[in-house]
Amino acid sequence: MSDISKVLIVGGGIGGLCAAIALCRQGVSVDLVEIKSEWTVYGVGIIQQSNVVREMARLGVLDRYLDAAYAFEDVGIYDLQGNALARIPGQRLAGPEYPANVGISRLALHQVLSGTAIDLGAQVRLGLSVERLEQDADGVDVTFTDGSAGRYDLVVGADGVYSKIRGMLFGDTYTPRFTGQAVWRYNFPRHPSIDHLASYVGSEGNAGLVPLADDLMYMFSTSHEPGNPWHEPKDFAELMRDRIQHIGGLVGELREQITDSSQVVYKPMEVVFVDEPWFKGRVLLIGDAAHATTPHLGQGAGMAIEDALVLSLELAGEGSLQERLNRFMARRFERCKYISENSILAGDREMAQDRSFDRVGLTKAMLARTAEPI
Ligand SMILES: Cc1cc2nc3c(=O)[nH]c(=O)nc-3n(C[C@H](O)[C@H](O)[C@H](O)COP(=O)(O)OP(=O)(O)OC[C@H]3O[C@@H](n4cnc5c(N)ncnc54)[C@H](O)[C@@H]3O)c2cc1C
Repeated sequence: MSDISKVLIVGGGIGGLCAAIALCRQGVSVDLVEIKSEWTVYGVGIIQQSNVVREMARLGVLDRYLDAAYAFEDVGIYDLQGNALARIPGQRLAGPEYPANVGISRLALHQVLSGTAIDLGAQVRLGLSVERLEQDADGVDVTFTDGSAGRYDLVVGADGVYSKIRGMLFGDTYTPRFTGQAVWRYNFPRHPSIDHLASYVGSEGNAGLVPLADDLMYMFSTSHEPGNPWHEPKDFAELMRDRIQHIGGLVGELREQITDSSQVVYKPMEVVFVDEPWFKGRVLLIGDAAHATTPHLGQGAGMAIEDALVLSLELAGEGSLQERLNRFMARRFERCKYISENSILAGDREMAQDRSFDRVGLTKAMLARTAEPI
């Protein structure tokens, strides 16, 4: 890796921070620029499954991460009245002493990852992006939006679904597409029965309850939103209640507690997949910049984290940079494509109200696939 001694990471989200951690651990000098001047993340949570727990161990952050998370084992599938349909046991991929899955608040995850990256020496600059990239055979000259400049051995675009770096590499060949659905999320005090991920499915709607901490959980629901309508933020609570009106059980009991529109996180689903190598020369995309998908399989951040780890492993290997990046692609492309396509498929089947769609079978197949080593 001695030929890759200085790396610029563009984007301080989950993928960029994990790349910073993995590269700093290998002695690479890492600069990271994040466009937000206040490095905030929104306050709901995220599901992280067994493959992510395994990679958090390999990134060397597992204990800190688990301290900030709610560990759980199984995924429960329920019908819309709350009757149990299936229980999918977790797989302890990080080792028998570690949990299978976790729920973690996005803020807590950000604090663990940003704190670790900075402790390891990553130089983080906020409120900054890349204005121009010019590469030659030996490096990349970068001009930043504040007029400053730097030269790097590699630039990693981890700047999310609307990636500016993707545009610099591929023009407008790949632009995000609205899938027809949106996600509604809301935090609650954790209910004692939510000690696992509970997913409520049916043709009249769907929702999930995810534990985040002893005293915190969140609800999510996906809805069909034809035409991607603009909703007034002041109406979010009423709209979320409307979207889950056919769901009973615990979700139905919690429904009337969704009253504060400012605490509802609404997000239309947008996807993009770069269907060719995610690099040109010394500039590479990872995470949502290359393969943003829908949250139906709960693996988007998982794929970004795996990208970061595999990148660091391959950069440390033999051969020219192009050979190493080709090996990175060989390990990442089909796996991310599988997650991307099947997440979108699950959403399409939801919108079609397809009762024959085997969601449980897909979830089991995905867990088997992601349990395979990367
Ligand atoms: C509703 C919803 C629920 C989800 N739930 C889950 C889940 O439960 N489990 C899971 O694994 N995944 C989930 N995901 C997916 C997950 O959030 C993403 O896959 C993950 O955040 C991707 O990480 P990233 O670092 O690639 O991109 P991001 O997290 O989007 O980070 C990109 C960063 O780059 C910054 N940036 C953007 N442009 C620039 C620029 N020009 N210059 C510098 N910085 C820039 C941004 O500010 C941001 O900080 C969900 C997604 C959605 C939409």
